[in-house]
Amino acid sequence: MNIDRKALKERMIAERREFHAHAESGFTEFWTATTVAGLLRDEGYDVRVGKELMSEEHRMGVPDAAILDACLKRAIDEGADASIAGAMAGGFTAVAGVMANGPGPVVAFRFDIDAVDVDESSDAGHPPRREGFASTHAGSMHACGHDGHAAIGLALARLLAADRDSWSGTVKLIFQPAEEGVRGAKSVAESGFLDDVDYIAAGHLGILADGSGTFYSGVGGFLSTTKLDARFTGRSAHAGMNPELGRNALLAAASSALHLSGIPRHSSGATRVNVGRIEGGSGRNVIPGSALLVLETRGETSALNEYMTAEAIRILEGVAAAYGVDVDVRRMGEAMGADSDPWLMELAATCAAEAGYARVSGETLPLGGSEDYSFMMNRVVARGGKALYSVFGATITDAHHSPRFDFDEDAMLPAAETLFLLAGRLLKAP
Ligand SMILES: [Zn+2]
Repeated sequence: MNIDRKALKERMIAERREFHAHAESGFTEFWTATTVAGLLRDEGYDVRVGKELMSEEHRMGVPDAAILDACLKRAIDEGADASIAGAMAGGFTAVAGVMANGPGPVVAFRFDIDAVDVDESSDAGHPPRREGFASTHAGSMHACGHDGHAAIGLALARLLAADRDSWSGTVKLIFQPAEEGVRGAKSVAESGFLDDVDYIAAGHLGILADGSGTFYSGVGGFLSTTKLDARFTGRSAHAGMNPELGRNALLAAASSALHLSGIPRHSSGATRVNVGRIEGGSGRNVIPGSALLVLETRGETSALNEYMTAEAIRILEGVAAAYGVDVDVRRMGEAMGADSDPWLMELAATCAAEAGYARVSGETLPLGGSEDYSFMMNRVVARGGKALYSVFGATITDAHHSPRFDFDEDAMLPAAETLFLLAGRLLKAP
């Protein structure tokens, strides 16, 4: 059965706009994930949600229970199917559609679905505002194009379902929560859901500046990164009468921030460390009994990042001991280094040209940033599979994560088409 591409494109745009209007931050994507689950079911997929593809202990940076509950309630108030959303309570907002269609390889595709913690621009000229689909959720906005990724995933689901006579094998379409802050992918990778996967592919809309019509078959050189929260607990005391009874957590945090920037740089490659926020204390005349440092490390390779993380933790613990306070260091997010498979890159380049991209680049592009999909790539590769991360060129109105970000909706259909052709190549019917 052949799907009418004009109708498919219109549906992608409509769905992308719905997701945009219902922007939800990491682990609170109850409306988005429930909507995706319902649509996958309509197409005949076996739908898995929540703990079926998420390891609870490997989630990082999960919001407080009160926030999760409020967002779940909001999603149901906004029409999410309560029976599906209920299975996601507590922030288990991953969804997958599985279609087992005869013998053959297992091919997975990953789409991230979360929004960025930013208020969308109120400028009347900002396209989502002008066209009436701006985020209705204060503090959350699809400023990274993941609304488009979700729409691409659903279009791919429809193309594959309609064409199931011409392919053989199993497809797993994974809609991943909490990519922002690199918090969600590790949980999916560690759940074991990918352990039978032979090929996994994903892409991102418009990361590079060349605009719509360009396809970059492989992105590599993800910086490996770890996000840490360090909570210092000391003892409050009267700063005038009994300072000797206090244990100053704020000084420990401040001193740590200075020492962290002094970690020796590594001779084998690029590293980064940044303390992004410091909080602490209560009143002017009170020895600060508590303090918080929010920091991150990065490295050109996983080993370099591990070096930076280990050094950072050693400093945090050492400085805490010097001030006689306790420190609790938590991993709030993490991503690894990963590279795209050259054979898959070549295959994807052929598919992209066939899908109508005007320019196809076969080189591996260094991303320079971090992506937690790297956990999924490495999990598949560790079991003998192959992994791909591509860029779907798209003209954008402003930088990713900016309140004025928007992308050219025409860029979505060629992306879905390319992934569909790639699936067809990998799942050749006997
Ligand atoms: Zn993104």
